[in-house]
Amino acid sequence: MDLEKLSVGYDRLYEEASDLLKKYNPCQFEEGVCINRRERYRGSPKNGCCGHCTHLSSEGCNTKALGCKFVVCEHLYDRFPELCSKLFGLREEAVDKIGVSVLACHINKEDFLYRIS
Ligand code: SF4
Ligand code: SF4
Repeated sequence: MDLEKLSVGYDRLYEEASDLLKKYNPCQFEEGVCINRRERYRGSPKNGCCGHCTHLSSEGCNTKALGCKFVVCEHLYDRFPELCSKLFGLREEAVDKIGVSVLACHINKEDFLYRIS
């Protein structure tokens, strides 16, 4: 298994997905609460999908986890079809080129590479 190639592919997909999410800003956080939580689950915990993830710091996510970039909740699915289509395309590419285990949320790059090596 060519770990260097996987690492480069991982980084590229991560950057592309991150750029898309920055461009569309679908989660629209306000005071730590995402739009889905504000509109559908009033009083729910802060930090949206990141919840109580151990990688969440006061500065936000402190690691690189590609699977998290592909999380699509009902809010994204309903209101950002173009974004979802692009994310699904990247997700398919990730599965094809890197492997299905890359889709696990909360699993960062180091853990992912360790698990498959
Ligand atoms: S994907 Fe949906 S539930 Fe998750 S943080 Fe974004 S808006 Fe909230
Ligand atoms: S690893 Fe994923 S769930 Fe955890 S803080 Fe980062 S983006 Fe959020």
